[in-house]
Amino acid sequence: MAAGTAKKILIVEDEKEILDLVKMYLEKEGYRTCAALNGVDGLRQVKSEHPDLIILDLMLAEMDGLEVCKRIRTDPHTAMTPIIMLTAKAEESDMIVGLELGADDYVTKPFSPKALVARVKAMFRRVERKEEGPSRLLYGALAMDLLRHEVTASGREVPLTAKEFGLLEHLLRNPGRVLTRDVLLNVVWGYEYYGTTRTVDVHIRRLKQKIPLLNDAIVSVKSLGYKLKEL
Ligand code: CA
Repeated sequence: MAAGTAKKILIVEDEKEILDLVKMYLEKEGYRTCAALNGVDGLRQVKSEHPDLIILDLMLAEMDGLEVCKRIRTDPHTAMTPIIMLTAKAEESDMIVGLELGADDYVTKPFSPKALVARVKAMFRRVERKEEGPSRLLYGALAMDLLRHEVTASGREVPLTAKEFGLLEHLLRNPGRVLTRDVLLNVVWGYEYYGTTRTVDVHIRRLKQKIPLLNDAIVSVKSLGYKLKEL
């Protein structure tokens, strides 16, 4: 990887030995790294360093990994940055909460650095595939044709407004991820829009009325936003 184009990875981990080991392995693979030993510094570096991916330990001093994760996801500038969470086996229930709050993957401690590097590579491949942007998004019996701007459910065309279409597109592009109301509002309505996040709720409700299969598929995540269940 040429310097300058190398992906930058932020590692937030309060155990110095693990941090140094992960850092060394990632740099050996050509990635750029930055590191934080606690949650507060981690969050600060998320904003200042603009990492392409974040490796986030769950148990951290000052601010725990779940809170850091939640804050990364609620900031529209960092909402889409991939997060791999590090957890101990005993923290499995926290891991599930972590995924709910928007971590993209998790690795259980103790782990081999090689295995973690493999997960990092897999994550970047996933992100790149997404950025290629397919012209057709599928979700069970639901199909969205991005070129024709057409949505069909079980082969029957469903007329959607431009905003409903945009909202559904963003959900279909991010199955399994928690999308906050603020993020959806910014993506679909734009930063200059002065509506409230209630607008998002209203449009989600309309989407569900028009496309009944979304009733079970789109779940609301308490105090955060919405998630399209993974099939
Ligand atoms: Ca820790």
